[in-house]
Amino acid sequence: MHLKYFIRLIKENTILKQEITDILYDDSKNEELFKKADKLRKENVGDEVHLRGLIEFSNICKQQCKYCGLRSPNKNIQRYRILKDEILEYAKSAVDMGFKTIVLQSGEDEYYDVDRMTEIIKEIKKLDVALTLSIGEKTYDEYSEYKKAGADRYLLRIETTDENLYKKMHPNMSLDNRKRCLDDLKKLNYEVGTGCLVGLPEQSIESLADDILFFKEIDADMIGIGPFIPHPDTPLKDAFSDNFVLSLKVMALTRIILPDINIPATTAMETLNPNGRIIALNSGANVVMPNVTSKEYRKKYEIYPNKICTNEDPTRCNSCIRNKIKSIGRTISDSYGFRKKNI
Ligand code: SAH
Repeated sequence: MHLKYFIRLIKENTILKQEITDILYDDSKNEELFKKADKLRKENVGDEVHLRGLIEFSNICKQQCKYCGLRSPNKNIQRYRILKDEILEYAKSAVDMGFKTIVLQSGEDEYYDVDRMTEIIKEIKKLDVALTLSIGEKTYDEYSEYKKAGADRYLLRIETTDENLYKKMHPNMSLDNRKRCLDDLKKLNYEVGTGCLVGLPEQSIESLADDILFFKEIDADMIGIGPFIPHPDTPLKDAFSDNFVLSLKVMALTRIILPDINIPATTAMETLNPNGRIIALNSGANVVMPNVTSKEYRKKYEIYPNKICTNEDPTRCNSCIRNKIKSIGRTISDSYGFRKKNI
């Protein structure tokens, strides 16, 4: 199928799963696809790249996601929790380095109850930044309390929309509850980020097309696409792991279908390809999320192996990524980086 025809279908709002599937199967027009996504990125969100300062504040998790190194049955990981004052130190130094968004991410750690979490949110919001949470599945009331305390955005990847695969990958969890969470977050007026893993064992190309259509259906404000990378201390340790190009294609298609959203060049992409984030920024992405915690924690937040920059400190990471972004002729945004929706 020709890409121009595909774009016309999107404009007419008649895009079908079959067309997306065809493009995902056909590798002969990949360069054309990436160029088109890059062009639409430029036309819709411009040359500015938004930097989000990521604080991975706890690797303790009650869940058992089969692919994730933080899963509770993994005993080969040294667990840590960063408490409020230290989180605030990282947030302050990120603000000093020029970050306009702080992202708080963790495993599903019940130590951070509503009281503790809202305290942290309120303190960070005093720093005049946008705040994103990525702390997993919660109740409507919990999400509501975080919003009232000042959180602006929430990241919760759907991971996969394939019901059977979802069940296999997430013991004791359900796709319905994941969708309920995203629905609640939308109702509460968060900017909502979601996304999927690409290359999970038994994941079909057809289901990736469904994932992309799901992003459109819920009109997500941000989409993070990550290649699945097998972790040696998980049940999926022997799985196939060369998912870089496929994840880039899913990302580029997402840009074409939702042209005005924010799309990060994910750390997992750079883990699989030494130039992964720059390639992603040239294929539809407009956001980068550098880690702003110190290296003692980075190695321990091992959702997958060989994560990049685990030996770096925040200042170095910050200047390194800024230089990379400038080297491809892009600029660093000094706005909060909310989605500006096309009408
Ligand atoms: N507990 C939070 C944050 C999860 S970690 C939540 O549930 O949203 C952030 C993301 O890392 C996950 O959404 C998942 O897509 C990704 N991830 C986990 N294990 C991975 C692996 N082995 N390879 C690549 N990405 C992985």
